[in-house]
Amino acid sequence: MQKSGDVAGGKVTSMSGPILRIAVPSPLAQTFDYLPPSHWSSAPLEPGIRIRVPFGRQRRVGVLLEVAASSVIASVRLKAALEILDATPLLDAEQLELARWASAYYHYPIGEVIAAQLPLLLRQGGAAHIRVESRWCLTASGQALVPDSFARASRQAALWLLLRDHPQGVSSAQLRAVYTGWRRLVSSFGARGWVQACAAITPTAVRGSQPSMALPLNPAQAAAVGAVTAALDGFQAFVLDGVTGSGKTEVYLQLIAAVIARGRQVLVLVPEIGLTPQLIRRFEERLDAPLAVLHSNLAEGARAQAWLQSRAGQAAVVLGTRSALFTPLAAPGLIIIDEEHDLSFKQQDGFRYHARDVALMRAKRCGIPVLLGSATPALETLHNVQSGRYRALHLPERAGGASTPVIEVLDMRQRRLQHGLSEPLLQHLEHCLQAGGQALVFLNRRGYAPTLLCHQCGWIAQCQRCDARLVVHQREGLLICHHCAAQRPIATQCPDCAATELRPLGQGTERLEQFLAHRFPGIEQVRIDRDSTRRKGALEVLLDRVHSGHARLLIGTQMLAKGHHFPEVSLAAIVDIDYGLFGADFRAAERMAQLIVQVAGRAGRADRVGHVVLQTHHPDHPLLRRLISGGYPAFATAALAERRTADLPPFTSLALLRAEAPDADAPLDFLAQARALIGASEDIAVFGPMPAPMARRGGRQRAQLLLQAGQRSVLQQRLRVWMPQIAALKSARKVRWSLDVDPMEVL
Ligand code: ADP
Ligand code: ZN
Ligand code: ZN
Repeated sequence: MQKSGDVAGGKVTSMSGPILRIAVPSPLAQTFDYLPPSHWSSAPLEPGIRIRVPFGRQRRVGVLLEVAASSVIASVRLKAALEILDATPLLDAEQLELARWASAYYHYPIGEVIAAQLPLLLRQGGAAHIRVESRWCLTASGQALVPDSFARASRQAALWLLLRDHPQGVSSAQLRAVYTGWRRLVSSFGARGWVQACAAITPTAVRGSQPSMALPLNPAQAAAVGAVTAALDGFQAFVLDGVTGSGKTEVYLQLIAAVIARGRQVLVLVPEIGLTPQLIRRFEERLDAPLAVLHSNLAEGARAQAWLQSRAGQAAVVLGTRSALFTPLAAPGLIIIDEEHDLSFKQQDGFRYHARDVALMRAKRCGIPVLLGSATPALETLHNVQSGRYRALHLPERAGGASTPVIEVLDMRQRRLQHGLSEPLLQHLEHCLQAGGQALVFLNRRGYAPTLLCHQCGWIAQCQRCDARLVVHQREGLLICHHCAAQRPIATQCPDCAATELRPLGQGTERLEQFLAHRFPGIEQVRIDRDSTRRKGALEVLLDRVHSGHARLLIGTQMLAKGHHFPEVSLAAIVDIDYGLFGADFRAAERMAQLIVQVAGRAGRADRVGHVVLQTHHPDHPLLRRLISGGYPAFATAALAERRTADLPPFTSLALLRAEAPDADAPLDFLAQARALIGASEDIAVFGPMPAPMARRGGRQRAQLLLQAGQRSVLQQRLRVWMPQIAALKSARKVRWSLDVDPMEVL
């Protein structure tokens, strides 16, 4: 292997030919030097092209970062690259710069960061060609036909309608999906001069977008659109702080239209759960411009095509989840992050970047605005508004005349509970259902019950590989660990005392569903959680039951709380908010407040007044009181004050060094050595090593070391020095370790 760049004091060998400095995916935090391939004929080698290289005993695909005149590696030891894969750069200078920045900021190897920017097929060396698909559209004489020209409901009539409704053409893939034997049908149209092949993709610039269905904006929306439109020529971070249902999406759509009209592209990121068919349809209907949707179910071929089309400027709008952030854009114009507070924007393993934070950096480099939308902005974001770095745009009222929901706190103390539900809550549900409304019951625990308990001796079903309890999944007859996926049949006899009185303890969504079906017979229910939506298409079917009004009772986890429009829901109940009020992580209260406000936002979106009921044993919790009396802004002010007093983010910067190994001592040993290396300093506090919140998971012991600094730049500076030293520790080889910069889950 031929390391480059950071070899201190290495002897520089002068070379006759160029040296290719390449980012190769590898856990080593460095670039690698190669000679050009033997058959290279001095064709231009531009940074951003892919090159296949020998790497150990393997071959890997890397990306050229620079062409250097010399290397610290002796020339005889330099290997030649195998194959140049691109004639022109696949990644442009802006993207390479962004990758360099992200690699430095997250202390993650540049080769891996760049690999993360590429769709799998391109990462593997696949050709970067846009597939040209044949498309068909009506000729003038085809357009002159009327529906009566065909036998009603015939295949010909259906084809004609489809073509008429798609003046930009219908692709062979679309036709194949609808008709078997479509070729015969199309050629019979062709023979009569009704149909012709048309251009594959119309370039974005000439198409423009006509917001024909755009709603007349209310003054606050208009002000928001005006502010961003006036700032399209440079970098500026905006926060669209609008209560749920205030018309944020409408603001996005009209801004997108304005950007497209200038021949530029828009990147829109939404949370993992937010990318619903409903949202995609809303974008498709409104934008008269090519839209690339990047979701997790996309086939790899389609993903690579969408990526290449965005790069070529053929997709005007790119809509996707976290990883879509790295989609190349030929003419970037605006980045929008919807529900910017959402946890799914932070990658929790490998390259642990935060898409919102990297988006800010990308917008800055591109010289374009970025818009962060949320009804419940992250405290970090609000802090940036207060310090003047971001500009806030407010949408204080619900659009379309819907009123703000009424929030009621139900004190559960000393009340008789049925499966976790108090009698007043059940009565609210009954009234809502009797009045013909829809109700939503929210519980952030899937499964039937959080665990199984022996009534005789107190034995509890524990996972053998994790410090966690096994969750009862009644319908499947299984006890499942939600952390390592271990499963076994539900025990019928206690392994400790042999008693047969084993009871599910506590409730999950499955149990609530069962109880509510019994309590409200004849009311159709829908349960939405990871179990009920695992099959492809299942979520769509369930949502459809809700939108059609058939299902009246919705039970679900946080999957229900995000982004959906349920206009008929007039009651939303949160079964238990206490775990949020008293969670161990310092962000627990912020998450709970966001959840309450988001769940409340599902209720009363149309003409019905919404009612929100929260069950708690701590009705006097100060942050809860703040939230109820003053809404999210009052809560955020109080929570930020607490963070300031406690020296927590956003007033300080954190980095978490994690380690895990099957051997109990290895992680703590490694972290103790890392700590010794870091030493004592005035401007950085070090906490630990300590066991991770779940010290054992999947059979591995886990520990962590927390670094805290008053200034981000100080922490970054030190990490640059420490990371290579930590990586070089002998004890590092006995553990799996990682650094998490700006961790979202600390405790
Ligand atoms: P958000 O994204 O803030 O939750 P949406 O953009 O989805 O809000 O808007 C909520 C509802 O209000 C939608 O049904 C939308 O059609 C409607 N709406 C948005 N803006 C307007 C407007 N200016 N006039 C009338 N209705 C509007
Ligand atoms: Zn027992
Ligand atoms: Zn487990």
